[in-house]
Amino acid sequence: MRTRRVVGNWKMNGALAGNAALLGDCASAFPYVSGSAAPGVEVAVCVPFPYLAQARDLLSGSAVRWGAQDVSIHTSGAYTGEVSAAMIADFGASFVIVGHSERRAHHCESSALVAAKAAAALSAGLTPIICLGETLEERETDMTEVVVGGQLSVCIEVLGHEHLAQCVIAYEPVWAIGTGHNATPDQVQSVHAFLRARLGPAGASVSLLYGGSVKASNAAELFAMPDVDGGLIGGASLKMADFEPICRAFG
Ligand code: PEP
Repeated sequence: MRTRRVVGNWKMNGALAGNAALLGDCASAFPYVSGSAAPGVEVAVCVPFPYLAQARDLLSGSAVRWGAQDVSIHTSGAYTGEVSAAMIADFGASFVIVGHSERRAHHCESSALVAAKAAAALSAGLTPIICLGETLEERETDMTEVVVGGQLSVCIEVLGHEHLAQCVIAYEPVWAIGTGHNATPDQVQSVHAFLRARLGPAGASVSLLYGGSVKASNAAELFAMPDVDGGLIGGASLKMADFEPICRAFG
């Protein structure tokens, strides 16, 4: 059984005052009702580290979960600036994004490091949201499956199918992130079907999210694809008027 999810990625945005309104609106839109969120959909927001306590304080008691956007592979010690999975879990978080293309590009994160981060998250009881995706040049040279298949294979080698079954995978073509140009539903479905097949037995339970310029106007057609279990939402997660209709865009 695959869980349908919409997860907001705030990236490096926010301030205490503005967050309070956004998180409050989010909690009101998705109240806790008999253990489930809006019909069969899990909603979450991944906030910058300094706002984890605020997310916990304002979302506790609602159906909305929260998480972080990166995690250290280390558990504790002399790693200045790093944040461990246990620290994130200490704030009641459920998720952590690993391997976002912005971290792969700007922080030279390899697939092996991303897989190790996913393993660190799992060992602290967090669900890693593992991001995969190809650049425009890779798509135009017909390398999409080679690239995303390679990124996934490293996770399979490091985590094994059993642990991978506890992860969420987000397909995020680099050329669609923050550009306003989303992949077409057919392009997304094709990559998701490929990834699900590669996941083997884990494919039956792993949520495969699509991320890349999802908006209220295109969410329904993307989420209607058979192998799309929801979305990882960047820019449109920063305003409730944009985010809420996306969370409700499942047929
Ligand atoms: C993201 O940052 O994960 C993302 C999908 O961004 P956007 O929705 O803004 O394209």
